[in-house]
Amino acid sequence: MSATPLRKPSADTAFDVERIRADFPILHNVRPHGKPLSFLDNAASSQMPQQVIDRIVRYETHEHANIHRGVHLLSTLATEAYEGARRSVQRFLNAKEDREIIFTTGCTEGVNLVMHGYGRKFIGAGDEIIVTHLEHHSNIVPWQMLCEEKGAKLRVAPIDDRGEVIQEAYDALFNERTKFVAISHVSNALGTINPVRRMIDVAHARGIPVLVDGAQAAPHIAVDVQALDCDFYAFSGHKVCGPTGSGALYGKAALLEKMQPFKGGGDMILSVTFEKTTFNTIPHKFEAGTPPIMPMIGLGAALDYLSAIGMDRIAAHEHALLEYATEQVSALDGVRIIGTAREKAAVLSFYVGEVHPHDVGTLLDEEGVAVRTGHHCAQPVMQRFGVPATVRASFAFYNTFAEVDALVEAIRKVQKLFG
Ligand code: PMP
Repeated sequence: MSATPLRKPSADTAFDVERIRADFPILHNVRPHGKPLSFLDNAASSQMPQQVIDRIVRYETHEHANIHRGVHLLSTLATEAYEGARRSVQRFLNAKEDREIIFTTGCTEGVNLVMHGYGRKFIGAGDEIIVTHLEHHSNIVPWQMLCEEKGAKLRVAPIDDRGEVIQEAYDALFNERTKFVAISHVSNALGTINPVRRMIDVAHARGIPVLVDGAQAAPHIAVDVQALDCDFYAFSGHKVCGPTGSGALYGKAALLEKMQPFKGGGDMILSVTFEKTTFNTIPHKFEAGTPPIMPMIGLGAALDYLSAIGMDRIAAHEHALLEYATEQVSALDGVRIIGTAREKAAVLSFYVGEVHPHDVGTLLDEEGVAVRTGHHCAQPVMQRFGVPATVRASFAFYNTFAEVDALVEAIRKVQKLFG
C-alpha cells in the first residue's frame, strides 16, 4: 500500500474544533497504549464537555434533593433544575409545549413506553405495525413483544444495496390493518438518514401515528418535531454529550393524554384510594417514582451546550469529516464500505478484506483509534448485507481530520499485518 500523503480538506474556519476539543477533558486525559486518543465510537456513546460535568457537580454540591414533593429550599431548587432541563429538551426538539416531553432513561425506554402506553391499549389481534429493515433492536423487539401478546403482525420495509429504505415498498405495506409505524431517523449501523418527513406523511394520509427513533439523529442534525409532524420522537442523553440514564420522549399532547401509564407509583398520581387511582396530568403520568434527577439536569445542560454551538454547524463539520473519511477509506485496497446511502450521517461501517472486524478493532485500539465492532444491535442489517459484523467509525463534532488520518493509517497497519 502506498503511503501517499493524505489530502486534508480546508476546514470551516468559523468552526474552531480545537476550541471545542478544549471543553472535553477526556480527549486529553486518556492516551490508549501511549498513543493520542482518536475517539471514533460516538454512535455508541459520546463524550461529556466540562460544562455538563460542572452542571452536574453544581447540582450535587448545591441543589441535591428529591423533586416535586418538597417545600424546602433544596427541593425547590432541584425541581426548578429538573423542570428547566425539560424546557431545554423542548427547545432542542422545538416541541410546542414542555408537557409533551417525558424524561426517560434513554431511547430504549422511550420506545417501550410507547409500546406499553399506546400499543397495548390501541393495537389488537390482526393489526399491523410497520418498521424498517434498518432498525436498531430497541425499535424491533418491543414491537415484536407486542405482536406476540396481541396476535398482531410486524411488517418490515426492505432496504436496497445502498442501505436506503425502498420507498415504494414502504408505501405498499400500508393497508386497512396498519395501526402503527416505528422508524429510525438515522441508522446506527449504516448512517442512512431516512426521509422521515415523507414517511410520516404517507402514514398520516391514513391517520396512522408514527414513532421516530431519533437516537442517532439528535446528536447530528437539527430536529424539529413540529416540522416533522411525528407523533413520538425518542432519543438518549448519553449520545448527545449527556449522562447515561438520561433521555427523552416527545409525544403529541393529545396522544399522550389518551395513553395508559407505563409504570405505576409515586408522582404519577393525583389521588389514590384502595378503590381507585386517578392519574396525574402529562408528563408526570409517565414519570413514576423518583427519576434520575441528576442525569436529566445533565441532559438539559448538554442540549444547551449543543444548541450554543449550533446543530447546523455541527452537521456541516461532521459531514465534511464523513466525506473525507469515506474518500480515504474507500481508496484503500480491499476495504468494503457497507452503507452508501445518498443521505448519510456521521457513520462509516466497513470491512477490511477477510480480517474479522473484532481483530481490526483490537489492532486499531493499539493505535489509539477507538471504533466499535460487532452487529451494532442491528442484526437484520448485518443479515441483509451478508456479514456477521462490521467495523464502525462514528464521528462527533469534536473529531478532526487528523483523527480520520489516524484511522486510515491504522487500517493500513492492519492490512500490512494480514497482508
Ligand atoms: N436506536 C438507535 C438507532 C440506537 O443507535 C440506539 C443505541 N445504540 C438505541 C436506539 C438505543 O439507545 P439506548 O441504548 O441508549 O437506549
